[in-house]
Amino acid sequence: MSAEGTRTDGTRSEGVGIDIAAIDALVGNGPAAWDATGRIPVELLRKLGGMGVLCAEVPTRFGGLGSTSLANGELTAHVGALCSSLRSVMTVQGIAAAAVRRFGDREQRRHLLGQLTSGRLVCVGFSEPGAGSDLSRMATRIRPVGDGTGDLLVSGEKMWITGAAYADLIMVIGRYGDGPDGAAAMVPTDAPGVSIEPVTAPLGCRAATHCRVVLDDVRIPADAVLGGGGQPLSLLFTVGLSYGRMSVAWGCVGILRACLTAAVDDARTREQGGAPIAEHQLVARHIAELYTSERIATQVCRHASEQWDRGAADAAVAAVLAKQVGATHAARGAATAVQVLASRGFTDGHVVARAYRDAKAMELIEGSTEISQLILARHALDRF
Ligand SMILES: Cc1cc2nc3c(=O)[nH]c(=O)nc-3n(C[C@H](O)[C@H](O)[C@H](O)COP(=O)(O)OP(=O)(O)OC[C@H]3O[C@@H](n4cnc5c(N)ncnc54)[C@H](O)[C@@H]3O)c2cc1C
Repeated sequence: MSAEGTRTDGTRSEGVGIDIAAIDALVGNGPAAWDATGRIPVELLRKLGGMGVLCAEVPTRFGGLGSTSLANGELTAHVGALCSSLRSVMTVQGIAAAAVRRFGDREQRRHLLGQLTSGRLVCVGFSEPGAGSDLSRMATRIRPVGDGTGDLLVSGEKMWITGAAYADLIMVIGRYGDGPDGAAAMVPTDAPGVSIEPVTAPLGCRAATHCRVVLDDVRIPADAVLGGGGQPLSLLFTVGLSYGRMSVAWGCVGILRACLTAAVDDARTREQGGAPIAEHQLVARHIAELYTSERIATQVCRHASEQWDRGAADAAVAAVLAKQVGATHAARGAATAVQVLASRGFTDGHVVARAYRDAKAMELIEGSTEISQLILARHALDRF
C-alpha cells in the first residue's frame, strides 16, 4: 500500500510514494520509551534509512524516493507527530543529502547518496563551542596534508551534533586550508582521531542524541571533501540550514497535530463541572488556539515547500519564515495542550509532555528565534 497521511482536519495529505502504515508499524509505541532511555534502536533507523524515509527528496536515480519538498514535508510532519527525536535524525540525514546534491561531484553524488538511502546514517557538524548563532566564528580546519597523497587533515570541535551517537559519517563543515573559504568533509565516525561524547540529560529530543565531537587531526582522502572544497562558507551554511529549516518547520506542524489530537481527545472525554471540559468556553478557546496554530503553521510550510519546489528566488527566506512560525506556534501550542490535559499530561512519557520539552528546542535550532527575526527584518527592510 502506498498510503497517504491523514491530517487532523480529516483530509488526506499528498501521496509520498511510501508506506506510511509501515512507518507507523515500525515506530509503534516506541517514542515514549526512546525518550526515557535516550536511544532509538539503531536497526530501526537503518531500516527507515533503507526505505529512503530519512532523506526522501533524493532523486530515484540515486536510490531515493524523489519526493517533492511538499510531499517530504507532509512525511516529516507525520514523523514529527510520532517522535521529534526520530524527526531530528531525519532532518540531519536530509541536510547532508542536500549538501551532497548541491556540492558533490558526480561520483560523490552517486556513491554518497546511494549510501544515505541504503541504511548508512550521517550527522552534520556546524556548531562549535565558540560558533553557535555566529557560524562565521567557526574554527574547524580541513587542510591538505601536503605529502603528495592528496589526503587532508580535519581538526576541530563540534557541539550538539544531533544523531552522532548513531551515525556512520559526520559531515564536518570547516574552513578550507588557510583561506577564508569553507569545505564539507564526510568523515567516518570510527576514523582514528574522532571522539564522540553524548550530552547527558538534554531538555528535549532526548533520543536524538546530541553529542560533542572532537576531531583530532583526522586523516581523510581527497574524495571525502564535497566538490573538492573551497566553497564560500556562507553558501555551505545557507544550503544546509535552508533544508534544515524546512524540515524542522514541518516537524513543528507534526508537534502541533499530535498536541491538537491529544487535547481534543481529552477535552471531549474528561468531565468536570457536570460537562466535558470542551464545553467550558475557556477550554474551548485553548482548542481553537491550537487548531489555529496548526492551520497557520501548515499553510506557511506549504507556501515554503511550494517556493522550494519551484526554485523561487525567495525560497531561503520562506524557509526561515516557516521555521519561525512553526517553532513559535509549536512551543506555545504544546504548552496549551499541557494546560488542557492538566495532570493527565504532566508525566514525562505523555505525548504532550514530550512535545512541551521537544518544542522548546525548535526555537533554538537552525537559527534561533532571534536570528530568524533578524533575517526576516532584513528581508522586509529590503523589500518594502
Ligand atoms: C536540540 C539541539 C540540536 C542541535 N543539533 C545540532 C546539529 O545537529 N548540528 C549542529 O551543528 N548544531 C546543532 N545544534 C546547535 C544549534 O545550532 C545552536 O545551539 C544554535 O545555533 C544556537 O547557538 P548557541 O546555543 O551557541 O547559542 P548562542 O549563539 O550563544 O545564542 C544565545 C542567545 O543569544 C541570542 N543571540 C545570539 N546572537 C545574536 C544576535 N546577533 N542578535 C540577537 N540575538 C542573538 C540567541 O538567539 C540566543 O537566544 C543543536 C542544538 C540543540 C539545542
